[in-house]
Amino acid sequence: MKSTYKRRRFLHHFGQATIAVSGLTLASFDALSETLVSAEKKSGKSINQARKLGIALVGLGQYSEKQLAPALQETKNCRLAGIVTGTPEKIDKWKEKYNIPDKNVYNYLNFDSIKDNPDIDIVYIVLPNSMHAEYTIRAAKAGKHVICEKPMATSVKDCEAMIKACKDAGKMLSIGYRLHFEPHNMKMAELGKKKTYGKIKKVIAIDSQEIEAGAWRLDRERAGGGPLMDLGIYCVQGALYTVGENPVSVSAKEGEKTDINKFAEVEQSIDFQLEFPGGAVANCHTSYAEQGNTLRAEAEKGWFELDPAYGYDGLKGKTSQGDMDIENVNQQALQMDDFADCVANKKPTRVPGEMGLRDVKILMAVYEAARSGKPVPLKL
Ligand code: NDP
Repeated sequence: MKSTYKRRRFLHHFGQATIAVSGLTLASFDALSETLVSAEKKSGKSINQARKLGIALVGLGQYSEKQLAPALQETKNCRLAGIVTGTPEKIDKWKEKYNIPDKNVYNYLNFDSIKDNPDIDIVYIVLPNSMHAEYTIRAAKAGKHVICEKPMATSVKDCEAMIKACKDAGKMLSIGYRLHFEPHNMKMAELGKKKTYGKIKKVIAIDSQEIEAGAWRLDRERAGGGPLMDLGIYCVQGALYTVGENPVSVSAKEGEKTDINKFAEVEQSIDFQLEFPGGAVANCHTSYAEQGNTLRAEAEKGWFELDPAYGYDGLKGKTSQGDMDIENVNQQALQMDDFADCVANKKPTRVPGEMGLRDVKILMAVYEAARSGKPVPLKL
């Protein structure tokens, strides 16, 4: 009861969030939120749909198993209705644990027949990065709405094809950017937008995690790159929603490889700097050979920061005036509930495919800047 209330209160508050994405502005989120809240007040009815929408998880790896499936036990607008897996040994355990009928179990070969299954409204792609495009496009062609994990794809061209496929099919596309549903991170966005501490001069964003040899994340073909694709994307996201602008230029330098076998195909670490039109700069660092998890903004009259910033739980915030007193929430449950609400009520998602495309453009520009040693201008 308490957590439901907290979630509602947060979702309401969060309707005011402010992130400028191509075609979708913070102002439009504000307006949308106000319209919905006033319609709700007038009618005295909840805006939630009557039926929980069915989600099928595609790829039953760590994130599906440890985060998304448990979160789907807490959602109110959607439920875990189906699974898609290439590993038959996983099926019985999932069927039993989540009460999934045989008719809602698919593999990668018969996946397209999901089009005939009315239990599945939304397909959630939780596969290695290079497979996101194919499965998003197949899901859209099967007439399903799609949530695709980050990074949206391994090329700009793929992102564009995914957006087009969903548009052509008249289906919604969202990216698994759970931190847009996380109150500490959205507090950073709010403090930046309201200029509570004055104009932001500098952002420092670090997301680093050690990785074991042999992971697909070290395989260029499946991952599309190294820690930048996997973790550095959180630095990009954090910098953009904190500053509240899209960057105009990026420079970058790849770090030295201390383990050339492990990092034979991808970078071990990379530093990059984003320049914003209002004069702010974001210094970002990501590595697969150390730990780090920070988002900090330095402004004219003070500073505000999260450390850790990007995890699933245990996030902590501070400002130059003291600690942030914010509770942690189930980010994935909020993210999926919000998308189900958007689908049911035909509202735009705050984390659309266009945002995923914008970020992949930035990631590709970071690699280009590191390769060329020169700043790369961005037109987003
Ligand atoms: P895992 O390696 O744990 O799982 C990936 C799953 O994809 C596998 O278990 C397998 O499932 C399926 N798969 C199909 N083909 C392949 C293949 N060729 N190689 C490897 N796996 C394959 O990865 P994660 O769950 O950690 O990550 C999946 C996606 O989710 C990534 O895009 C990642 O960036 C994203 N992610 C997002 C997070 C977030 O916080 N938003 C956190 C963690 C990951 P099966 O056996 O069922 O076929």
